[in-house]
Formats: sequence, C-alpha cells, structure tokens
Amino acid sequence: MANSSMSQNSLPIVETFHSMQGEGAWMGANAFFMRLAGCDVGCPWCDTKMSWNAQKHPQVPIADLVAQASSAKPAIVVITGGEPLMHDLTALTGQLKEQGLRVHLETSGAYPYSGSFDWVTFSPKRFKLPHPSIYSQVSELKVVIKEPLDLAWAEQNAKMLDAQVLKYLQAEWSTNISKELVMQYVLRHPAWRVSMQTHKLLGVR
Ligand code: SF4
Repeated sequence: MANSSMSQNSLPIVETFHSMQGEGAWMGANAFFMRLAGCDVGCPWCDTKMSWNAQKHPQVPIADLVAQASSAKPAIVVITGGEPLMHDLTALTGQLKEQGLRVHLETSGAYPYSGSFDWVTFSPKRFKLPHPSIYSQVSELKVVIKEPLDLAWAEQNAKMLDAQVLKYLQAEWSTNISKELVMQYVLRHPAWRVSMQTHKLLGVR
C-alpha cells in the first residue's frame, strides 16, 4: 500500500477545509487542511476513522488540490489524514511550493517519508511502528497519552530526535485519567509541553 503510484496525479481525499491550526507550535495559524484518505495504523481512540478506507473517498487531481489551497491564501497548508505518508507526496508538495505556499505535514511516520515540507508534526503510534526515515525530518513530536505505557513510548521516540525538536504530550480526549497523567508528567519533566486541541474548545473543525 505504501507510496502508491496512483498518487502522482491524484490523491484520495476525505475533505479539504480552511480553518485554523488547533494544535502544536503553529496553534492559531490560518491553515488550509487537506485530509488524505487511507490509514492502517488502527488507533482505538482515532477520531477520523472515516478516513481509514481510501476506496471510500474520491481521487482528486493534485492540480485541483493546489488550486483550492492557492485561492484560500492561507499562512500554512496542512497535509493530514488518515496517514498521508501511505502516498507519495512528492508531486503534491512540489506543486504547492511552486505556488509559494508553506507546507506542513501531520503523520504517524508509519510509512517512508516523501515530499518536501516546511514543518513536520510527528505523532508516533505503538500500534504500527514508525519508519526510520521520519526521525531526521521532525519539527515537533506530539504523543497521545492514554496510559502510563504511552509516556515510556513518548520518551523512547524523543531519544531518536534532535534536542531542539518541540515535545508535546496530548491527553487522549475521553478520559480524565489521561489528563492527570499528562499534567503530572509535564510538571516533573520540563522538556515536555501540554498539547491542547484548541479547535475543539472553540467549536471549529
Ligand atoms: S494514525 Fe491517525 S488516522 Fe490513523 S488510526 Fe491513528 S489517529 Fe487515526
């Protein structure tokens, strides 16, 4: 499934929308999102399960996606999913950059890195291990925390990254236990920051 050759001219798309980046270092930025279809990582708490089966979503020409992003005139274009690296992102990111757009990636890193990005948010999952090619590309690390085991997973991944990479812990949204785990950990480990999904607080997508 990785790096499908079909992706050169078109990509399976769940949705595109113009909003704000709700998370991480670029929180609050004017952002045009492209949610690519396809993911086999299988996180039990996934909030975008409708994206998993790429066959259920239309193939959209890359030229159309680039035209949509250009006309929105955003500060950043965010390629998210699903797991975007299931597809070869070289053509999409190359054409977005030709338009002078700043391009960000949100990925679990479960497939080989492709494309050219200005910012990479790496959210590794224990359910499908990251491909080694992601570690040299990361701008910020964001790990979802549901149980103590996830904190060890966060530290294991942080050790693979440059020291200046920003490190966030995000509580799995449905449980108070996870919020307490994140708060207590950040208070004892100042290299980490708490990540919030502020778009959900604001009631925007
Ligand atoms: S990697 Fe992302 S899209 Fe895939 S299952 Fe996990 S949370 Fe959902």
